[in-house]
Amino acid sequence: MGAPSVDSQVAGRAASGAGSLARTAEAGPARVLVVEDDPGIATQLVRGLTRAGYAASSVATGSAALLAPSHDAVLLDLGLPDIDGVDVCKRLRDTSDVAIIVVTARGEESDRVLALDQGADDCLVKPFGLEEVLARVRAVLRRTRPSAGELLRYGALTVDLRTRKVTVGGREVALTPKEFDILECLATDPGRVVTRSEIFERAWDAHWYGPTKVLDVHLAALRKKLGELVTIETVYGRGFRLADLK
Ligand code: CA
Repeated sequence: MGAPSVDSQVAGRAASGAGSLARTAEAGPARVLVVEDDPGIATQLVRGLTRAGYAASSVATGSAALLAPSHDAVLLDLGLPDIDGVDVCKRLRDTSDVAIIVVTARGEESDRVLALDQGADDCLVKPFGLEEVLARVRAVLRRTRPSAGELLRYGALTVDLRTRKVTVGGREVALTPKEFDILECLATDPGRVVTRSEIFERAWDAHWYGPTKVLDVHLAALRKKLGELVTIETVYGRGFRLADLK
């Protein structure tokens, strides 16, 4: 069971694209508890989840997990030193509706089935990469918190991914579908430089062969609508980003 379980090489990419579901509507970042007795794995998971915008922490035992304050999601290793992981899963489920993703080593399929029977929402098999963890967390939060996590906030800007409503300083701004898609690219990971081709892939489709000047036209309109409270910077030769908050 000694296989390294988190691919640290992908940790640096964790932040991109994960912002949307890392935030809940009212309560700030979604809280994720890692229950894992291997300190190396726990540290990497907490670091990766934190980079992706979650409020992540870890405990090393089942009893600590049962005593931990409430969370939005729990990543629960089934092989724990004190209490059987399936038991922990059952007891968490008996007392809360937290999203539970159980983690098992390869070959522990029966435990996995038991845990799913006890109310786990999903499972991960070691070894796994961080991107997979983040995708599973996003997916369970989308299912268990359908109203949460769809709101991006950055300074005066809010972008509601579900209703596609955008406000700046509390004032609603009407955007065209393309303008919204461009803004979503930028607001998903504020501050990161998004390249022209990334925007084309997401807002148009992967095989846009038309003039790329069309992007500049939409960007100009978008900048004008957002006004002075939200600045889209051009990073010459690289792309665009939302300017740092002042
Ligand atoms: Ca373990």
